[in-house]
Amino acid sequence: MILSPGQLKGKLKIKEKNLKAGAYFHYPFCLKKCPYCHFYSYPGQEEEHRLWLSGIQQEISLVAEQLSGLFEIETVYFGGGTPSSLRPEEIEGLLSSLSKNFNCDLKEITLEFNPETSGQKLLGFKQAGVNRLSLGAQSFSDWMLKSLGRLHSVDDIFETINQARKAGFTNLNLDLMIGLPGEDTPVFEDNTKGIEITRPEQVAVYMLEELDEVPFKKAWEENPVSEEELAETYENYQTALGQLGYEQYEISNYARQGYACRHNLKYWEYKPVIGFGPSAASHLAFLRWQDIPDLKLWSKAILESQMNLSEYLVLSQETALKEKLMSGLRLAAGVDWGLIKEEYAGLDFSSYEEKITELAANGCLELAGSRLRIPSSRFLVANLILSELLF
Ligand code: SF4
Repeated sequence: MILSPGQLKGKLKIKEKNLKAGAYFHYPFCLKKCPYCHFYSYPGQEEEHRLWLSGIQQEISLVAEQLSGLFEIETVYFGGGTPSSLRPEEIEGLLSSLSKNFNCDLKEITLEFNPETSGQKLLGFKQAGVNRLSLGAQSFSDWMLKSLGRLHSVDDIFETINQARKAGFTNLNLDLMIGLPGEDTPVFEDNTKGIEITRPEQVAVYMLEELDEVPFKKAWEENPVSEEELAETYENYQTALGQLGYEQYEISNYARQGYACRHNLKYWEYKPVIGFGPSAASHLAFLRWQDIPDLKLWSKAILESQMNLSEYLVLSQETALKEKLMSGLRLAAGVDWGLIKEEYAGLDFSSYEEKITELAANGCLELAGSRLRIPSSRFLVANLILSELLF
């Protein structure tokens, strides 16, 4: 769907003052496509990189012309793809363009850093303003990295972290994947040892998802992981990370005190995030939209001062409430049920309250004061609990 940013603004109804938003940049290029990856990413050429850069600059000013007075941006996240392939001066240019076009008070600027990227760029990224790195480590087991089709080794992870610390990064996240075919106790031990040695400020422990359309599906089907095995692995990480001093603050995320990712919290707390780049998703008040996951179509529209969107939704109160609960109940802290009822005061809450009572009686939800949450012992079945509550 082709839309102008002015048409987007026309649909916005914003009551809140002092809205704090996040900005997400999607850089879609990688050296090689990993067989399990369902993101919009592929090996790009220099010419496509340049197309992306000029499109992004244009998208920032286009969106800002309509939306810039409505919020202040306080977090930035460069994701992808492999945004660590960008040059430090390109990151600096994008941050400067963001600051010129929007009200910004940037507190957290995260760059996804692939351990196959040269660590020599790290100091440049730090100087460009990046203050948090998210490392796509995936595993501290070399054979597991190979079976995932990753280009980096365990040594590369250790080397990258050493270089990141030397460059002055004091906020590092490590992404790990669990529930993989062939994963056994030695892999778990390698991973927990790796965390113990490198001491990142945050660890994200992801399970494979959306395997339907990726080549890795075959490896999965040949050696599937049962639900019982997955549950055991997940619980082992919960215990081990707790013992290593990490607090689980979301279904897949653990952090040392004060290091929960501020940008990702915006998604879970249903705060505004404005996305830039092909496939980037945005959410602001009762609007949700997503740039088309196609570099050429995205940039063609942008260069004509339009937006080509694969999704554009004006949310009803009921849908927004459901989305807020769906994302907020992923957090260990859950949601403020009292505040939510005030915020969506026009809605009938009786069926939600009945279900909350039922689910709480079964230990699937806890309502303490006005805080509603899923106990961490039930996180693995959070989707089932949410569908019981919401549908
Ligand atoms: S490096 Fe990351 S974004 Fe790129 S293909 Fe692999 S998993 Fe996907």
